[in-house]
Amino acid sequence: MTTTRRSLLKTVGAAAGLGVIGMPALAQGAAGRVVVIGAGFGGATTARYLKRLNAALDVTLVERDDRFITCPFSNYVVAGFRKIEDITHGFDGLTKAGVKVVKGEATAVDTTGRLVTLRDGTKLSYDKLVVAPGIELNYAGVPGYSEAASEKMPHAWKAGPQTLLLRRQLEAMPDGGTFILCAPGNPFRCPPGPYERVSVVAWYLKNNKPKSKILVLDAKDAFSKQGLFQAAWESEFPGMITWISGKDGGKVESVDPTSMTVKSGFGNETGAVINVIPPQRAGAIAQTAGLVAENGWCPVDPTTFASAKAQNVYIVGDASIAGAMPKSGSSANVQGKVVAAAIVAILAGKAADGPALLNICYSLVTPDYGISTTDVYQVNADKVIVTTPNSGGVSVKTPTALNERKLEAEYTVNWYKSITADTWG
Ligand SMILES: Cc1cc2nc3c(=O)[nH]c(=O)nc-3n(C[C@H](O)[C@H](O)[C@H](O)COP(=O)(O)OP(=O)(O)OC[C@H]3O[C@@H](n4cnc5c(N)ncnc54)[C@H](O)[C@@H]3O)c2cc1C
Repeated sequence: MTTTRRSLLKTVGAAAGLGVIGMPALAQGAAGRVVVIGAGFGGATTARYLKRLNAALDVTLVERDDRFITCPFSNYVVAGFRKIEDITHGFDGLTKAGVKVVKGEATAVDTTGRLVTLRDGTKLSYDKLVVAPGIELNYAGVPGYSEAASEKMPHAWKAGPQTLLLRRQLEAMPDGGTFILCAPGNPFRCPPGPYERVSVVAWYLKNNKPKSKILVLDAKDAFSKQGLFQAAWESEFPGMITWISGKDGGKVESVDPTSMTVKSGFGNETGAVINVIPPQRAGAIAQTAGLVAENGWCPVDPTTFASAKAQNVYIVGDASIAGAMPKSGSSANVQGKVVAAAIVAILAGKAADGPALLNICYSLVTPDYGISTTDVYQVNADKVIVTTPNSGGVSVKTPTALNERKLEAEYTVNWYKSITADTWG
């Protein structure tokens, strides 16, 4: 884009106008200061694309951890065909892109004074704030479950020590034991995730402990890519996996980590390994900052992902209410680009373009058997994100001589390589 004297004057004029209402960096004549909370799929993408679209922006990214361990591919660590190092990403690529990465935890946001406070007392002022904290687990949503109980009955729904704990438990499980997975109701992070986990755990058990069984107790009556998953379970692991829907009693009523039992309408079940995935809500800082609706998630303007609760704040990724878009790394990455473009336009005094939204979710059933679902989205007249008719789709039902399942397994690996490079550099 060429900057003409006229467009420059327009930009400066707009910035000066915004400066009157107290935008710190803009008031000093700079391009603008953006603070991003969270260096996961949503936050890291936003930060990188902000710098890419306008190198003059001052972009500070606050992250409490030293590195990011992805949930995508963490199921393969549980099943033993990936290592935790394979899914761990540092932040050098972000620094190289000109993003200031600050290690710390955001504990408060003053949306009127445009100030973020970190646990160590540091204060960061902003013109625009991007909140991308991912999820908080609602342990109390499952009676008997707690953070302490997750040391015995892991959730492994945030990748890291919990992933490794579940892996160790699976390795220690006797042949002939039962692996129980308790799946939450909608909405939750990664709709196909529990069923991908069940698949690759079945692959591990089939090869190492073939007398074992898997029981899925589900709060829902249907799940993502259900037909494809269930057909794969039949063909790859006949008789090993039992799925109990919510209407058949699958909703968990309580868990007891001492006796390793799960109570549901289906009965009292004892497991050798029990994986409890509790309900979730937007990350804690979104709650503290007053950015959530009653349901625990953050309402946004779907064309820009601007918060419906506070001015100059944008919500990216799992924390947002994004209509038909699933809570996925793929969605968070796309939303990050939408937000970066919107902020760059708005800081330059222009209107944000309408977003292009899409999601693709690959899942492996075995290392050589992949399936996927893709969707394109649009904002409808009611300002809700809906699926675009006649777009997207799922994997072929019956593979042809091309061996689509094997090809999709390769695409899965390549998707991971490209999205992680796009997000963290
Ligand atoms: C088992 C599993 C498998 C999955 N597989 C896939 C897949 O194949 N494809 C896919 O697209 N998605 C997948 N997902 C979903 C994907 O992991 C999430 O949707 C994605 O991580 C959401 O991105 P986010 O930026 O919203 O949150 P996150 O990626 O979780 O990032 C949030 C970041 O914010 C930081 N943070 C939070 N609060 C603060 C604070 N107050 N101060 C500083 N830092 C803070 C956190 O430390 C974290 O680094 C999977 C999820 C699971 C659980």
